[in-house]
Amino acid sequence: MTEPREVMDVDVLFVGGGVASLSGALHLSNLIKEHNKRATEIGEKSLDEIMIAILEKGPYPGSHGISGAVMDPGPLKELIPDFLEKDAPLEGEVKKESIYFLTKNRKIKLPLNLMPSSLNPLDNHGNYVVSMSRMNEWLAGLVEENGADIFPGFSGTEVLYDGDRVIGVRTGDKGIAADGNKKGNFEPGIDLHAKVTIFGEGARGSLVKTLIRRFNLDTQKNPPGFEVGVKEVWKIPEGRIQPGEVIHTMGYPLKSNTFGGGFIYGMKNNMICLGQLTSLDYGDPFLDPHREFQKLKLHPMVKRLLKDGKLTQYGAKTVPVGGYFSVPKLTFEGGLIIGDSANLFNSQKIKGIHIAMRSGMLAAETIFKCLVRGDFSGSQLENYQTAIMNSKEVNDLYKARNFHQTMVKGLFKGLFISGIQYVLGGRIIRSRLEAISDHLHLKKVAELYGTDSPADDRKGDVKYDGKLTFDKETDVYYSGSTHEEDQPAHLKILDLDICYTKCADHFQNPCVRFCPANVYEMEIDEDTGKKTMKLNFSNCVHCKTCDVKDPFENIQWVPPEGGGGPKYTMM
Ligand SMILES: Cc1cc2nc3c(=O)[nH]c(=O)nc-3n(C[C@H](O)[C@H](O)[C@H](O)COP(=O)(O)OP(=O)(O)OC[C@H]3O[C@@H](n4cnc5c(N)ncnc54)[C@H](O)[C@@H]3O)c2cc1C
Ligand code: SF4
Repeated sequence: MTEPREVMDVDVLFVGGGVASLSGALHLSNLIKEHNKRATEIGEKSLDEIMIAILEKGPYPGSHGISGAVMDPGPLKELIPDFLEKDAPLEGEVKKESIYFLTKNRKIKLPLNLMPSSLNPLDNHGNYVVSMSRMNEWLAGLVEENGADIFPGFSGTEVLYDGDRVIGVRTGDKGIAADGNKKGNFEPGIDLHAKVTIFGEGARGSLVKTLIRRFNLDTQKNPPGFEVGVKEVWKIPEGRIQPGEVIHTMGYPLKSNTFGGGFIYGMKNNMICLGQLTSLDYGDPFLDPHREFQKLKLHPMVKRLLKDGKLTQYGAKTVPVGGYFSVPKLTFEGGLIIGDSANLFNSQKIKGIHIAMRSGMLAAETIFKCLVRGDFSGSQLENYQTAIMNSKEVNDLYKARNFHQTMVKGLFKGLFISGIQYVLGGRIIRSRLEAISDHLHLKKVAELYGTDSPADDRKGDVKYDGKLTFDKETDVYYSGSTHEEDQPAHLKILDLDICYTKCADHFQNPCVRFCPANVYEMEIDEDTGKKTMKLNFSNCVHCKTCDVKDPFENIQWVPPEGGGGPKYTMM
């Protein structure tokens, strides 16, 4: 029997309460306010009681916001010109920055700061170090002041259609037990109907995946590519790094056939954040992005910085790095895609916040015109696609259009080609370099190691001391992540047999390593040797790595009961 559900009508619905949606909702409510003021003055019709709603799966605004982050403030200055007076939670303006190439014990400072900024994609002078969770919390306050409604603790779990038109989303049921039965506190999800639904679910959006499939939005596009960022925030002794100081690293601990790099950013009150991005097109099934990040902290430069410091928060998340050619079509009847869900991330500059903001703002401008005209047809919504593709931010993305693809050729060759490409605005390799999905890059253990059971040191394993380096369980504690335990697991393993056969034989179950939260554990019965996959789903920090990297696409991430997941406050 289908569940009777409440239907709630809103005008504009944002799914996901990240920086893209919050900027969109704020800009739209500002445009409506200005319009109504003008309309009253000249006696025209105003846009009354327009209901804007934002669904966020995290328990409070900002709780699932995680980034580096160095923010290009361009769009923020347009959205909130008085952002300084409004106490934007900025950790510091970037005035000092450096880039190091690391070997295991040494560092080489790269002279990028001697280059003019037009030739240096990592020039951050004038940008700001921020915490995404704090920024989102602050933006959410401004959005609510403007009268929009934010619903934290509610996941969008299903797109609702009328024929081929998106008419809203269904929120997840609450109070379903692990065995699928209803518990005493059962509450059916709500059907939210809207004139337009904007999907800002972040990287690898679970609903956006279904939209892309249904409307073939990725026809003739490259598949998306991702990096996973593993990050910690530390309190360190005074005077070691200034708020706003930026340090980037390349090389150690990642091997030259794996793209990625480290970041260390100075925050206020002697806090720093540090992390490492690892490209998920790596080939080694024993690679563990969390472990590699722990190794970064063992480098003498980083170890010195953290000495006598204290870990205060942990988190992880994927970023979409496929670039310009992986951006799907962004509009369809009834809806739009914004931010990381649209793969709008510039991996050469390591920046997505300002593009997410821009995409939200341009979506808002399109929707505002639809409200004024009373026309939400697909052809009106397509104005957003034109506007974002013509924006300065996407123009920059176009210049770096083959960056990710060249990096697959290895760090040094990739940096050489992409360096020349950057200087020439992408003019040498003009056309699209093809890419393949991240999960297809994984190599078989025997092919890579010549044996099925390489020794731990060949696999790269390390021991954690609980002071400087932490195992995943300890780190997860610092993410605050919890989920209602008595609910169906939100990690759907489509065919468990694959885990015990093909995946174990060829790749030795890489999920137990690539998950940065120790969600997947392969338990082996000592007597019978029988393997059982154990899912510690309560640990999940919603990074989506498993949805991207499983070699058989055998894991599907779906939103858990709303309100579960990490409780970030300064990521
Ligand atoms: C480690 C790391 C370092 C980074 N460094 C930088 C940097 O230095 N500078 C920079 O500019 N960018 C950086 N980025 C990228 C930047 O953080 C993103 O581009 C930006 O946050 C994208 O914003 P968004 O709103 O599109 O998505 P998100 O910030 O991911 O927000 C999406 C929101 O939607 C919610 N959500 C998802 N699905 C649902 C659903 N079905 N129902 C309800 N809610 C849902 C999520 O909980 C989340 O709150 C970094 C990212 C990472 C992970
Ligand atoms: S289970 Fe998947 S989404 Fe959750 S933390 Fe692990 S890899 Fe990330």
